[in-house]
Amino acid sequence: MNNFPEIKKNFGFGMMRLPMNGENVDIPQTCAMVDAFLEAGFNYFDTAHGYIGGRSELAVKDCLTSRYPRESYILTDKLSPNFFNTEAEIRPYFESMLEACGVEYFDFFLLHSLTAGNYSHYTSNRAFEIAAELKAEGKVRHVGISFHDTAETLEKILSEQPSIEVVQLQFNYLDYEDRNIQSRLCYEVCVKYGKPVIVMEPVRGGSLVNLPEAGLQEIQKLGEYSPAGYAIRYAASFDNIFMVLSGMSSIEQMNDNINSMKDFTPFTETEFETVYRVADIIRSIPTIPCTSCKYCTDGDRCPMHIRIHSLFGAENKARRFNTEDARGHYDWVISKGGKPTDCIECGLCEEICPQQLPIRQLLKEIGERFEG
Ligand code: SF4
Ligand code: SF4
Repeated sequence: MNNFPEIKKNFGFGMMRLPMNGENVDIPQTCAMVDAFLEAGFNYFDTAHGYIGGRSELAVKDCLTSRYPRESYILTDKLSPNFFNTEAEIRPYFESMLEACGVEYFDFFLLHSLTAGNYSHYTSNRAFEIAAELKAEGKVRHVGISFHDTAETLEKILSEQPSIEVVQLQFNYLDYEDRNIQSRLCYEVCVKYGKPVIVMEPVRGGSLVNLPEAGLQEIQKLGEYSPAGYAIRYAASFDNIFMVLSGMSSIEQMNDNINSMKDFTPFTETEFETVYRVADIIRSIPTIPCTSCKYCTDGDRCPMHIRIHSLFGAENKARRFNTEDARGHYDWVISKGGKPTDCIECGLCEEICPQQLPIRQLLKEIGERFEG
């Protein structure tokens, strides 16, 4: 379903993981990606002020808006909750986003990363009303949200905010029935409220590209596309989904995705059965059953400030996916707290862990994997 005739195809360029040259966006390569994308007949681009520390918006200007006429692309930007504290700060922030991107209006303007926790920040600062005003002024064509919480929270928000036209959801074949992400349940709420869906994370941050060997073999039996191609086509095969974003980081990834989506055909029954088998294979690989309750770290309980649940998240990623992403996750966790090898084995964390996890032993194993 596409309620937006200005959008040419159902695949979008998510500009949150652009190719980098040290600390800077690799502009020549990003320009080549933009050119290839437009040349193949796609025209939807997605950014946010927080992506790559503000450098994504600037890359949008350098590679897209300063090089192509305004009517040749659709541009989405987002109002992120951490960039405004008061209602009065929203409009200046919005104007700075327009300027950074080099445009006079956004086609889609999304209130970013809505959760039960930050919803009141948006409502108390009249963000929904201001977004509607910007639309009435022609500075925004369509208003929506990107969403990261339960279906119950989504239903509450959609029932209270009729100005929302579209919803951006995390949606992929592994999270479809996930009890935390709730892709299917959230999608069904959108259908119920008649809100077309934009998909983010169709390849789950790259995880579904780097499948475990048995999963890869299943995908390869299908034969035609790459693992990323199947993951993107899966999401695009649902009726109420009009756009699937992929955060591409190289011209090779761009070409692979273009190949999968330029003549899009919806999934066959065999393809659905195959990716759900792959999801079963991934889920069958044992992970640490940490529930992220954080009791072990609350109130500085760990004297070494080790972010235990986050390290377990990196370890679980490494166990299930053949991916560099786990290393990146690990490096990020230890930049915020202690390393697993800092553990002094005081045992305070294990005393309180409701899952009775052997945290000290697990941290040793994680230390050996990432530091050994
Ligand atoms: S055993 Fe290690 S991880 Fe647990 S609280 Fe003590 S120092 Fe922290
Ligand atoms: S207390 Fe146990 S279950 Fe909770 S976050 Fe810590 S390790 Fe995970």
